[in-house]
Amino acid sequence: MNVFVLNCGSSSVKFQIINTDLELFEADGDKMIAKGLIEKVGTKEAIINLQAGGGEPFKAVEPVEDHRAAIMRIKAWMEEPTTKIEGVHGWDDLHAIGHRVVHGAERFTKAVRIDKEVLAKIEECCDLAPLHNPANLKGIYACYEIFGERIPQVAVFDTAFHSTMPEDVYLYAVPYDFYSKYQVRRYGFHGTSHRYVAYRYRKLTGKKREDVKIVTLHLGNGSSACAIQAGQSVNTTMGMTPLEGLIMGTRSGDIDAAVVEYLFAKGVGSVTDIFNILNKKSGVAGVSGIGNDMRDIEKGADEGNHRAQLALKMFANRVKKYIGAYMAEMNGCDAVVFTAGIGENGARIRSMICSGLEALGIELDEELNKQTVRGKTGRITKPGSRVEVWVIPTNEELLLARDSVRVIRNVERLW
Ligand code: ADP
Repeated sequence: MNVFVLNCGSSSVKFQIINTDLELFEADGDKMIAKGLIEKVGTKEAIINLQAGGGEPFKAVEPVEDHRAAIMRIKAWMEEPTTKIEGVHGWDDLHAIGHRVVHGAERFTKAVRIDKEVLAKIEECCDLAPLHNPANLKGIYACYEIFGERIPQVAVFDTAFHSTMPEDVYLYAVPYDFYSKYQVRRYGFHGTSHRYVAYRYRKLTGKKREDVKIVTLHLGNGSSACAIQAGQSVNTTMGMTPLEGLIMGTRSGDIDAAVVEYLFAKGVGSVTDIFNILNKKSGVAGVSGIGNDMRDIEKGADEGNHRAQLALKMFANRVKKYIGAYMAEMNGCDAVVFTAGIGENGARIRSMICSGLEALGIELDEELNKQTVRGKTGRITKPGSRVEVWVIPTNEELLLARDSVRVIRNVERLW
């Protein structure tokens, strides 16, 4: 099957076309045959970047009115005779569309085929994720308009993997009514990424799902940690929204909620303004004053910038705290897995996070750690380390494609 995997942001459309099917999963026979990104959608200067297989990328800056126009632009590119996508000459060669949807609330605990009823339910989840779900929905509606029921469409939710968290973990200690009336609870995000690297870890080590306890660390612009036991998420750091937990590029992570009232009283702005600051101007960007890119912050730290040094330390310490918490919660673990931009490349930050965890059984091999960057997979602890540490590149698109196939072929779970 050729699966068109779509990840729509408020002003961007990111896609891959992945050739995959059930019988290809075990041997990793799936193949990414095209990918692309259209940014600044809704402007006269949208940035278009499209690539077939390993070919030369097509780049352009053109007006792209909305998400529908972006998808039509991809179609036009696909149908040009100069575009050579293996086995795909036009829309008719696509067999499924897999959409990334951020929030599925309690309504969606796994990927589902999209129909009118599902669409209505995703709409209902917008309340809980006003920054994300409406953008995802734009992509779904655009595809619905273009393809109708002709190509099956599947929604894969970031929250779904965490639906196995127990009640005592997902509830906040606030009046119970807030949960029963308003669905205030922890949902967790990055589920597709945590699930993917947990699966890869089991494949790499040959361990059985039932036997494994791991802590996965998705450290990118947005960051979260997850405790995974017997293949299921038992805890994660993000909460009702992606603001909770680890310190991120621009998000504060855990913070005393009283700060909001205090800043409001000080006239910093409305509650909305303050949450905007906590989401967009805080995190390592806020502390360092340099920006959200860890590479720039590391450079600043090397040049003696105190706030950059502080941002790195605070970032690493928060991750360390949750490794300890999750190991306590699971009564130990077999491995810690790093993934995403910082997790896959930030050797220095990985070293900061893992240093001083010898008492918990983590002994990093500094040389292996330094070498494991730029898409490399590997163990980075010393042979005798009681808890292993791995770096495993994430691939959310691949899991989106596989989940789409599973839904369409009515397979519950293959791994
Ligand atoms: P997103 O969460 O937006 O998907 P990514 O997972 O792509 O983000 O991570 C992007 C981030 O990864 C960058 O902002 C940067 O902080 C970090 N990063 C990328 N390369 C390196 C590197 N070599 N060293 C440290 N951090 C890096």
